[in-house]
Amino acid sequence: MKQNTNKSKWKQATKLVRGGTMRSQWGETSEALFLNSGFCYDNAETAEKRFNGEEPGFVYSRYLNPTLAMLEQRMALLEGAERCCVVASGMAAVFAAIMCQIRAGDHVVSSRALFSSCHYILTELLPRWGVEVTLVDGRDVSAWKKALSKKTKLVFLESPSNPALELIDIAAVAKLAHKAGARLIVDNVFCSPLLQKPLELGADIVVYSTTKHIDGQGRTLGGAVLGTSKFIDDELVPFHRHTGPALSPFNAWVALKGLETLDLRMAQHGKNAMKVAEFLEKHKKIEKVIYPGLKSHPQYALAKKQTSGGGNMIAFYVKGNKRSAFAFLNKLEIIDISNTLGDAKSLITHPATTTHFSLKPEDRKKFGITDTLLRLSVGLEDADDLIADLKKALG
Ligand SMILES: *Cc1c(COP(=O)(O)O)cnc(C)c1O
Repeated sequence: MKQNTNKSKWKQATKLVRGGTMRSQWGETSEALFLNSGFCYDNAETAEKRFNGEEPGFVYSRYLNPTLAMLEQRMALLEGAERCCVVASGMAAVFAAIMCQIRAGDHVVSSRALFSSCHYILTELLPRWGVEVTLVDGRDVSAWKKALSKKTKLVFLESPSNPALELIDIAAVAKLAHKAGARLIVDNVFCSPLLQKPLELGADIVVYSTTKHIDGQGRTLGGAVLGTSKFIDDELVPFHRHTGPALSPFNAWVALKGLETLDLRMAQHGKNAMKVAEFLEKHKKIEKVIYPGLKSHPQYALAKKQTSGGGNMIAFYVKGNKRSAFAFLNKLEIIDISNTLGDAKSLITHPATTTHFSLKPEDRKKFGITDTLLRLSVGLEDADDLIADLKKALG
C-alpha cells in the first residue's frame, strides 16, 4: 500500500477525496463496502489478542468495520480532530456525546435556540436523570458568563441555529467554558465541516448529522462525534460499543462517497442561496430575510469572523398569517415541502407546525418561530429556476 505520511498537510479537497482510504488485497479504486457484521480469526490466540488489545484489528461491526473506519479517518482529517466516532444518526451523535460524560448532579449550560430533538434531550431527559440544565440566549455573551459556574460540566451550542439562523460567538463561549472547567460541544450541522471549524475556535467536541450536507442527496442517516483521542477512546467509544447506536456500513459508505463532492456542492449551495436570499430580500411580500451571507443579518460581522460562507439555509418571514404562509408553500412547483435539509433538492419547511411543533408556544415565540416563518434549504438546481418558482408562488 502507498504510504501517505503528510495527509494533515493536504488541502481540503484532497482530504475529502482521499482521506482514510484503505484498499483491500484486490486494489479496488473506490472505497469498498464491507457489509458484514462479524469477523473471523485464524486461531484462538488471534481472537484473544484482538480482544485484549495486543493486536489491532476488527472484532464486530457494532464496534467498527473497515468502511466505518475509512469514514472516521476521513472525517477526523477534515475536521483536524485527533479522532472521530461515527454513529447511526445526528441525534445518536448528540446523545452519545453528552451521555458518555455526564453524571447525576452535573450542571449543563446550553443555547436555547436548538434543533427540537436536542432541546428534548436537554430539557426533558437530562433533568429526569438528575442533571441540572440552564438555557441561555446564545447570542448574548454575558448570559453565558452568568450561567456558567464551577459546577458546570458541559456546554452545548448550535450555530447557526435551527431554524432562525442565530449565531453564537464560539471562541468567546469556549473561553468562558474553559475558565469554568467545562467542555464545549458544538453541533456544526448547518455549516458542514467546510464552512466553520469549531475546534480551531476552541470547542472540545464537534457533532454532525451526516444525513444532511455530507450525504447531501437525501439517502442515508448517519452521525459523527469528533474530539481528542483521550475523549473518544476513553469516554465515547465504551459508551457507543455497549449501548449500540452503530452506523450501518452501507450508510457509512454513502457518506464517504458524499464527502468526495462536498466542497463542490457547498460552493454551489452557497452561490444559489445568496442569489435566492437577495431576491427574497427585495420582494414586497416578504417581511424579513435572515441569511448569514447578507449584510442585513443582525450578526453579519460574527458570520464573517467565524464562518467562511453563508451556507445554504435561509429563514424568512412572509407578510400575513399562517394561511398566507401555507398558500405560498402549496403553490411551489419545484421546491418541495420537507422537514429535512442540506439536500441537492431545494426543500422548504414551516417550522412552527412541523420541526418545532413539539416546543411550548412561548418557547417558539422566544426563538422567533412564528406562523409566518419559513426555512428554506437551497439545493443544487439552477438558481434562476428556484427564483422563478418562488416568484410565482408569492405572486
Ligand atoms: C438534523 C439535525 C440533527 C439530527 O440529525 P439526524 O441525522 O436527523 O438524527 C441535529 N442537529 C441539527 C442542527 C440538525 O439539523
